[in-house]
Amino acid sequence: MYKIDETSCIDCGVCMKICPKNAIEFTKFAHTITDICISCGLCAKNCPVKAISKKED
Ligand code: SF4
Ligand code: SF4
Repeated sequence: MYKIDETSCIDCGVCMKICPKNAIEFTKFAHTITDICISCGLCAKNCPVKAISKKED
C-alpha cells in the first residue's frame, strides 16, 4: 500500500491520471489512496516531487 505526503504534494494530478486502478481520490482537502490499490508503484515513480511512498504495514 502507498501513501501520499500531503505536505509535499503540489496537486499536479499526475498520480491520479496514471493509476491503472483509479485508486487515488482527490478532494479539496485530501488526497487518498484507496483499498483498490494494487501497489504497482507507478504513482510513486511518476510523482514529480516524490510525495508518494510505500507504507510499511
Ligand atoms: S501503487 Fe499503483 S495502483 Fe496503487 S495508487 Fe499507485 S498507481 Fe494506483
Ligand atoms: S503526482 Fe505527486 S505531486 Fe502530483 S498530485 Fe500526485 S502526489 Fe501530488
